[in-house]
Amino acid sequence: MIVTRFAPSPTGYLHIGGLRTALYSYLWAKRNNGKFLLRIEDTDLARNSKEAAEAIKEAFQWVGLDFEGEIVYQSERFDLYKSYVQKLLDAGKAYKCYMSKEELDQLREEQSARKERPRYDGRYRDFTGTPPKGVEPVIRIKAPTSGVISFVDGVKGEVSFNASDMLDDFIIARSDGTPTYNFVVVIDDALMGVNEVIRGDDHLSNTPKQIILYEALGFDVPKFYHVPMILNPEGKKLSKRDGAMDVMAYQKEGYLPETLLNFLIRLGWSHGDQEIFSMEEMIAFFDPSHINKSASAYNQEKLLWLNSHYIKEASYERLIEALRFFDVDLAPHPKKELLIDAVRDRAKTLVEFATMIRQIVDAPKTYDEKAIEKFLDTKAVEILSEYKNTLQNAPALEKAGEFETLTKNFLEERGLKLKDLAQAIRIAMVGNSISPSIFEVLEIIGFVHVIERIEALIIYKKGV
Ligand code: GLU
Repeated sequence: MIVTRFAPSPTGYLHIGGLRTALYSYLWAKRNNGKFLLRIEDTDLARNSKEAAEAIKEAFQWVGLDFEGEIVYQSERFDLYKSYVQKLLDAGKAYKCYMSKEELDQLREEQSARKERPRYDGRYRDFTGTPPKGVEPVIRIKAPTSGVISFVDGVKGEVSFNASDMLDDFIIARSDGTPTYNFVVVIDDALMGVNEVIRGDDHLSNTPKQIILYEALGFDVPKFYHVPMILNPEGKKLSKRDGAMDVMAYQKEGYLPETLLNFLIRLGWSHGDQEIFSMEEMIAFFDPSHINKSASAYNQEKLLWLNSHYIKEASYERLIEALRFFDVDLAPHPKKELLIDAVRDRAKTLVEFATMIRQIVDAPKTYDEKAIEKFLDTKAVEILSEYKNTLQNAPALEKAGEFETLTKNFLEERGLKLKDLAQAIRIAMVGNSISPSIFEVLEIIGFVHVIERIEALIIYKKGV
């Protein structure tokens, strides 16, 4: 069975790069009827891991990813890690190193003077003497001193590290007894049964160290997939300046979670030239060995394009639900479906969607002065007044088609074109000259309120 995991270090929010690796790991487990686990790498106790876990859970919930079982917190497993450090010491695969900070600094200076890469020289590796007093030792692993550590990465292919120049006897436990990062990752992945690790390629240089530890501990080495980073459009590392980094910020900016997942799966992976993937298709098609070898660039336009797509496709229920976040409750609206359909093709985000909905549902409190100046000269106000009178003398209209017929007849009788009236009506209805299909808007607002809104604009204009 394939077991994958997502192992974020707590930062208080879930980063979109993190969500991408989580998604990849999730999909690969689902595709194989395997398990997807969550572990919080909170050995740095200064940070609040519970809060971070809440932030991750919230983001997972929003995008609809779920993980198996309970969250594993590294901060709760120190005794376990210690027992494995002891096992390695007992087996002679790790040793205590009493080198003081001063000695280490001196060694580094000498090495850099010789233009060598700074590395531990193994001076306590076979030490049998009496330990120096007053030094709390660190624990170092006995790493191979020659040969090559190589593995076949599922994305990058064969990766090799030369033991003699890349690796030294690195520390697995600090002098205060706390285990180091690479050590705990290995213990946890092994004990959690993780056999396929999908993670950012910023971890590639940790992998040979981790392989040394798997072997020393007698655990099976998992399969690794190192995913290239997401870059900004300029080809630099993605940073906060390039847009939202926190997954939940995408909700605030009006993206649907299906948009974000679809966007992320395509950032670094493809399936022919298909752009739109349902969750079922993602699960059916995703294969980490098809992840791109090169980094991918964040593309804001693509994100908006996908969001428009998902807004167009979403069911009424889905949109009504998503709009609640923006304090728009369409559930009780008698014409909600018409209203949604009038707006959905024009909104790239739910923020725009909610704004357009509010403009239609609430009578304008202010008018766009530029639009008034451009479209409401004395002549236009006269036409609008006559139009209002015509409406008032007509039987109560209901359907868009009825408004359209009346309006066309009104214009034809006066030798006018729709453009002579349309913008004035828009301003009256929504406060500016931009709105969805005008007759639909009239139907949604309803006969009585249409007349009221026209009247309000005429009064406003006369008062100016
Ligand atoms: N905690 C690491 C990080 O957030 C991930 C470790 C791993 O995936 O092996 O970058």
